[in-house]
Amino acid sequence: MADVVVVGGGPSGWALASACARGGHAVTLVAPGHGWRATYGMWADEVSVLPPGSRWVATPARGGERLLPRGYAVLDNASVLAACAHPGIEVVRNRAAAMTATSATLTTGEVRHGMVFDATGARGGGIEQTAYGVVVPAGSRAEEAVFMDWRPPNGQFLGPATFLYAVPLPDGRMLLEETSLARAPALGFGELRDRLYARVGTVIGPVERVRFPVDVPPPPRRARGAIPFGAAAGLVHPATGFSVADSFRLAPAIADTIGRGERAVRRVIWPRRARLVYRLRRRGLATLLSLTAEEHEEFFDLFFDLPARHQRAYLSGRADPAGTAAAMAALFRAAPARLRRKMAKP
Ligand SMILES: Cc1cc2nc3c(=O)[nH]c(=O)nc-3n(C[C@H](O)[C@H](O)[C@H](O)COP(=O)(O)OP(=O)(O)OC[C@H]3O[C@@H](n4cnc5c(N)ncnc54)[C@H](O)[C@@H]3O)c2cc1C
Repeated sequence: MADVVVVGGGPSGWALASACARGGHAVTLVAPGHGWRATYGMWADEVSVLPPGSRWVATPARGGERLLPRGYAVLDNASVLAACAHPGIEVVRNRAAAMTATSATLTTGEVRHGMVFDATGARGGGIEQTAYGVVVPAGSRAEEAVFMDWRPPNGQFLGPATFLYAVPLPDGRMLLEETSLARAPALGFGELRDRLYARVGTVIGPVERVRFPVDVPPPPRRARGAIPFGAAAGLVHPATGFSVADSFRLAPAIADTIGRGERAVRRVIWPRRARLVYRLRRRGLATLLSLTAEEHEEFFDLFFDLPARHQRAYLSGRADPAGTAAAMAALFRAAPARLRRKMAKP
């Protein structure tokens, strides 16, 4: 019998399995496949959350026309996965057909016992981030990394706001991606591809399609059953779509808490302060949804003009309500009356 059963082999599942095994727990990881296909990034000052041996490519990045105060890092997925591996993890190549707090039933009917974590990814939610990206060969573009460029592809704002995300990959190639940050209904891949082509010219190469909800809420305080983790637990930042760094950051604290039981573990994943931050971030998401394309550019120009501490608090301070509120207040003060009205709307 394992101490811990982790269902799902995405970044959150592997982060947790790895931390638990390093913490001396026997771990079963139920994962139907191997490898991560998505391109994952985090802020360069967050890479220390990754297990030793992980590699990434770090790069300065622009937000609009300005150089961001924080560098950016794109993960070398294979190295992170290899760094997560541990002899204390038994990987079962299967899917869970059912989960309870203490058992996972596989599709074969086999039952695995232990404290069960549901790291099977985001479900539900109605507001989605979508993106269409093309990987172009090394040296084919002189592009510098761009975290967000909201300037319109053809100099003219048409329809819903999208931005360019362009980052170097660990193998030297570059991912050029047109992204719709948050929208309901989601912006389609065809529209995103056309906008990407309008922005950078027609580019040919392997395609990355991104689609996931950004509004999956935290589980209720008194939830029962398998403990959700990662995107399944609402860890995705509602206003950026990020969760990978937070999953790796939280995993060791969870591993340390397992001996104190399920309730204590749930509190580590969603302490009261993180629930408060989540509510503030949802306000940020509501503001984003109310903005026109022109206002998106204006809004993010103001955001990226904020001092680095505010940017860091809003983007990465998952359990820092005071820092998040201070960042939002600073943005409000900097905004013109027209934007303020939208930010203040209940
Ligand atoms: C293309 C893409 C790019 C993204 N880029 C970033 C980024 O740069 N930075 C960032 O922070 N976030 C990014 N995100 C958002 C988010 O952080 C990711 O969705 C991230 O993968 C969530 O990790 P996870 O492990 O919680 O879930 P997932 O990565 O969705 O992993 C869940 C895993 O569980 C498996 N599974 C599902 N059901 C079962 C079952 N019944 N039994 C067993 N296994 C099951 C799935 O096959 C999957 O492998 C991106 C999302 C996408 C889609």
